Amino acid sequence: QATDQYSRDHQEAKQTPVKRVVVAGGGTAGWLTAALLKKVIGDAVNITLVESEAIGTVGVGEATIPPIRLVNQVLGIDEATFLRDTKATIKLAIRFENWKQQGQQYYHTFGAPGKSMAFCHFYHFWLKARQQGLKHDLWEYDLNYLAAEAGKFARINAKDPVLELPFAYHFDASLYAKYLRKLSEGLGVKRVEGKISYVSRHKHSGNVKALHLENGHAIEGDLFIDCTGFRGLLINETLGAGYDDWSHLLPCDSAIAVPSERHENTAPFTRSIAHSAGWQWRIPLQHRNGNGHVYSSRYMSDSQAHDTLMANLDTKPLGDPKFIKFTTGRRRQQWYKNVVAVGLSSGFLEPLESTSIHLIQSAIVRLIKLFPHQGISESAVKEYNAQSKVEFEQIRDFLVLHYCLNEREDSDFWRDMRHLTLPDSLTHKMALFKQNGNLVREQNDLFLESSWLQVMYGQGLVPEDYHGLANSFSDEKTQAMLSSLYNIKREPLASLPTHDAYIQSMIDSA
Ligand code: FAD
Repeated sequence: QATDQYSRDHQEAKQTPVKRVVVAGGGTAGWLTAALLKKVIGDAVNITLVESEAIGTVGVGEATIPPIRLVNQVLGIDEATFLRDTKATIKLAIRFENWKQQGQQYYHTFGAPGKSMAFCHFYHFWLKARQQGLKHDLWEYDLNYLAAEAGKFARINAKDPVLELPFAYHFDASLYAKYLRKLSEGLGVKRVEGKISYVSRHKHSGNVKALHLENGHAIEGDLFIDCTGFRGLLINETLGAGYDDWSHLLPCDSAIAVPSERHENTAPFTRSIAHSAGWQWRIPLQHRNGNGHVYSSRYMSDSQAHDTLMANLDTKPLGDPKFIKFTTGRRRQQWYKNVVAVGLSSGFLEPLESTSIHLIQSAIVRLIKLFPHQGISESAVKEYNAQSKVEFEQIRDFLVLHYCLNEREDSDFWRDMRHLTLPDSLTHKMALFKQNGNLVREQNDLFLESSWLQVMYGQGLVPEDYHGLANSFSDEKTQAMLSSLYNIKREPLASLPTHDAYIQSMIDSA
């Protein structure tokens, strides 16, 4: 019987070419999915998006990482109008404050210290020089750090990669969703307003057949993208695709968010400030700051978390704080039957490294590559799910790294985080680095070697030695290289405008 069922399912899926795509949900995930699918796949599919203004969106998600610029490029977005319409600012880095110890800070920049070198990374030469008494810290050789600290930015058309200044954006989440909606509708995406009251399924396969709205309308489709947020109306409530709960590794399960007035000078970086049971973000926008406190309810009550956040806002709050609860982890099968979960419905990793919007982007790219034009195949679904799993796990490990290496003694939370049972994949990476600074970037890991380096070193993991190849340079040659890079990295700073001046010039040109 099971075999019969399997072959019926298989036949039905195979026989249904995908022409009608239905996106359920119109937050960042829904609109980004609709826009990218329509832009890339074009008229081969009809795309309908259903959203409910009465339900609304999660309303957070304002810091990004550099691959967002690829999305903008593919969508043909003009940067000046984008900055103007989403009240965006430039992000060069995240500054982690009080993470290793209270009073200490380090940066995770989108750049890299030094320069790229064959076989032996720059920082081995720097490690060797440090052993010989060099005073300059790693970040002194990173232009992103220098520009972030100076509050400066401009696009640099560097012929020399040493002078590249990789960046991403901070933007207003609600304005971003509006921006994407306008873009998608312009591309031909059909929007339907209404609350989905139930989801019907095909009898044999169990595939989703239609979304039924409260007003009596039904929207049928061949492929459904579940962008309904944490609840996962299709993937979870309808299909029960399962969830891997990772709270034992990342115990923060709550957040409280509140906007506040802007600062006079807009910083070109996100701040991540550790507190006694979690951390606070500060995201500078043109018209306000986005603030939030991510914490573990096992170690801190909601009212304590609220008071901690309000006591650590240094500008006047604008509006009421909003509480959000979540379970860290991932949907076990992010593509199940004819439903693909994208956005919060596919899983959630706390926003410590601003990875959620990127996960939306990469899910859509993966779906486009495996798009079931001729019908859904088992192998495409399997490949999609395998790739998503690795991607989530790699990001999870990188987030855990920030916590497990702390040296804080002020709370049970931080003490407990030091004694986590770590995934083998992470223990292995840390052991390699500890030995002689070896960094291994697994295939397609979102985070480059320079990211792992900055967080491991910033959190206090210092290699016992440097790579032997650093001895291929004499001490004099090493010193000359370091001193030359130190100067080269500073050269562009004098002519860079302030971040605010850059944003203003872009708005004026829009
Ligand atoms: P939502 O915004 O929740 O949208 C769900 C949509 O589904 C809405 O349109 C809703 O109306 C619709 N819907 C639901 N049920 C129904 C129904 N029955 N009928 C019709 N429509 C329905 N990401 C980053 O990249 N950077 C960050 O800095 C960042 N910070 C974050 C901070 C916090 C505290 C949290 C919780 C998340 C953060 N994220 C961040 C993640 C980011 O907010 C999300 O990835 C992003 O907003 C996408 O959300 P979504 O579209 O999946 O869900």
